[in-house]
Amino acid sequence: MKRRHPNPKRVKIHRNYTVEEVAALFLVHKNTVRRWVKEGLPVCDNHRPMLILGHDLAAFLSFRRTRNKKKCKLGELYCFKCRAPRVPAENMADYTPQTDLVGNLSAICPDCHSIMNKRVNRSKLDELGGKLDITFPPEERHIGESPKPSLNGDFSYEEENV
Ligand SMILES: [Zn+2]
Repeated sequence: MKRRHPNPKRVKIHRNYTVEEVAALFLVHKNTVRRWVKEGLPVCDNHRPMLILGHDLAAFLSFRRTRNKKKCKLGELYCFKCRAPRVPAENMADYTPQTDLVGNLSAICPDCHSIMNKRVNRSKLDELGGKLDITFPPEERHIGESPKPSLNGDFSYEEENV
């Protein structure tokens, strides 16, 4: 069966979409849209139901059509504005956990200064830490005066879920 690529031009960039609306727009299953989110389609934080900006959706779908030509290397994030992989400005990135296993990496594009996002597996953070200076949200750190977690191999989360 031939798979059609959703046409980014169908997206109205100045409106927001729920997962259901995106699915209806492209006649795809909601799970397909959720997979796009896992692949890096940015969603609005702290919003339920999940909300996707039309601008991000159009950029993501354009990226998907050409991603084989422009694959991100380790330590790079894809800038939807530049339409190219970029090493974050100052090699700095913020990690926001979304579940115990995955989270969102965000960084600033060194060229256009827009925010780049990437869904990453927590298990990848060790490897990424060799390339990027990753900052964790305050709640990831221990209360008190414990140091920032080291990314140089001895990454430990033993205090989690206690
Ligand atoms: Zn950029």
